[in-house]
Amino acid sequence: MNVYILENAFFTLLLSSIEVFPKECLGLLVGSKGRDRYVVNQCVVFQTAERTRNEVIYPRDQVYSKMQRFLKEYMPYFSVLGDFHSHPYNRLEREGYKPSDGDIELMEYGNVYIIVQIHKKRKRMIWNYNPSEQTISGTIGDNFIKMSAWLRSRDNDVKAVQANVICRPAVGLLGIPEWLPS
Ligand SMILES: [Zn+2]
Repeated sequence: MNVYILENAFFTLLLSSIEVFPKECLGLLVGSKGRDRYVVNQCVVFQTAERTRNEVIYPRDQVYSKMQRFLKEYMPYFSVLGDFHSHPYNRLEREGYKPSDGDIELMEYGNVYIIVQIHKKRKRMIWNYNPSEQTISGTIGDNFIKMSAWLRSRDNDVKAVQANVICRPAVGLLGIPEWLPS
């Protein structure tokens, strides 16, 4: 499964995660869904979320259904694909891009979930795809950021499976990666 993050969505994920750091941000993913892909066109940050250091509390079902109604009426080619939230840390956490047990519990089959890991950067890094992790990462301003995408597995309710994050506008941000054809 591939999750395409388009430019608008990518910058909202970045900026909303940076804005509230070291608190957690949360919002909806809006776009279109195919058999083997999700295309995330927009991200809508939750204004109603109560943010604390360790969790975000928000009227989830209410916001979901409000947004679904809005899209049905005004943008019928889009739907709510799932949601995103950030994982802010004080330092590098190798597994910080993975969903917590609580995150997985809230996942619904058919939706997609993006996790934005964020912490203060140690050195400047060009944005790139990490094939072994199926993530994208890089630095922006003072921050290191890594994004991953997850789905509820069909057969096993207690597991989440990872999807490939494909984000053309991210790759090469802050520079040109060597492997890109000129
Ligand atoms: Zn989480």
